[in-house]
Amino acid sequence: MDTKVLIIGGGLSGLHCAYRLSKLKVDFLLMEGRGRLGGRILSYDHEGNPAGRHSGGYDMGPTWFWPGQTRMENLVRELDLVDKVFLQFGAGDSLYEDGNSIQRGIPGFSMAGSYRVSGGLQQIVLALQDNLPAETVYRDAQATRLNLESGSVVAECRRNGELMEIRSELTVLALPPRLAMQSIEFAPALAADRVAEFRAIPTCMAGHAKLLAIYDQPFWRERGFSGDVISQTGPLREIHDASPEVGGPYALFGFFGVSAKQRQQRGSEMIPAAIDQLTRLFGNEAQSPASVFIKDWAEDRHTATDGDREMLNFHPAPALRRSAEPEWDRRVLWAGSEASNSAERVNGFLEGAIESSERVIAAIESHLMPETTGYAGVNNQGIAE
Ligand SMILES: Cc1cc2nc3c(=O)[nH]c(=O)nc-3n(C[C@H](O)[C@H](O)[C@H](O)COP(=O)(O)OP(=O)(O)OC[C@H]3O[C@@H](n4cnc5c(N)ncnc54)[C@H](O)[C@@H]3O)c2cc1C
Repeated sequence: MDTKVLIIGGGLSGLHCAYRLSKLKVDFLLMEGRGRLGGRILSYDHEGNPAGRHSGGYDMGPTWFWPGQTRMENLVRELDLVDKVFLQFGAGDSLYEDGNSIQRGIPGFSMAGSYRVSGGLQQIVLALQDNLPAETVYRDAQATRLNLESGSVVAECRRNGELMEIRSELTVLALPPRLAMQSIEFAPALAADRVAEFRAIPTCMAGHAKLLAIYDQPFWRERGFSGDVISQTGPLREIHDASPEVGGPYALFGFFGVSAKQRQQRGSEMIPAAIDQLTRLFGNEAQSPASVFIKDWAEDRHTATDGDREMLNFHPAPALRRSAEPEWDRRVLWAGSEASNSAERVNGFLEGAIESSERVIAAIESHLMPETTGYAGVNNQGIAE
């Protein structure tokens, strides 16, 4: 198979690249290793199935974007999703838990003012997908090897046990750099210091796990609580209201405050311990959720590597640099949130996934259409030369 631009990874960044290339009428293909699109964006319905257009919308990956993140704001506008954006519920008191003490009304850590999307962030994924010709997107297509030895880029992908070979002029890697180092063989091999550099870039939130507890009634709201909690006691370290914009089923979600290794050791006891915590924080009604789901990102091989098993409480610092390997760098471009290196420090965020895509698209335009842009080349950071 031949294409001008091959995109590896169908998370927000890869989908955004595909969406822009489709608008520019540039020939492209997108390979996604999972059976679904969206990557770290994953919204459930109330039965724990991936949310569709009209069902559920409980976010198990990212939940929010923030005022002033203009790329996200523009994208929801462009995809006609503005009516679905609503503010995180934040009315009422926050709680702070430490040891046996629970303090009420602590200011400063509420997520009030953050934006959510009705139906979950999956709505953005579905809208992007709607704008792509079906024949350009391959799911269950795992890239395993990138070969530059022949003069162009030849990617090998495994799809349903079969080998696909895709030859492209440019290849966009829209996945976390350390995951690429683990799952894709590069030929010729990248220099050892380059590999070490990529492996050192943490994948945002890849070591975390979310618990979602769904309830028929928003009893915490009725008692004057916002649902926002910071806890030093655990097992949930940070809790928020995860209910739909209007009506129920209502929900609370929390991030576990223990590492992936500890979560694995403690196994099935994690759920009752979390429900006990919700009960001591919000009252007896919390003891009987209609359903409970956990998404442990550290156990997901399409997101996390062993290096992500320690939890991070910060977003990764930009670490991609201009490289001394021009053959690679002229044909293989890094998108993906971790590759965002703008001064706004949005790497690791949804906003960074779009920023890196926009930078790569500008570079592809300059490479493929030099007569209109006046440029002729790109480097691995997608910077036109
Ligand atoms: C629990 C959690 C909470 C978060 N909360 C927020 C939040 O509230 N706000 C915010 O802004 N950000 C948040 N983030 C971060 C946000 O989710 C990411 O920045 C963003 O989704 C990254 O998008 P991406 O396309 O760069 O990468 P990904 O979404 O990781 O997409 C990469 C894609 O590549 C695919 N892939 C991997 N290897 C291969 C291969 N070899 N071949 C083919 N395909 C492959 C993967 O399956 C995946 O679909 C959160 C993340 C998590 C996990």
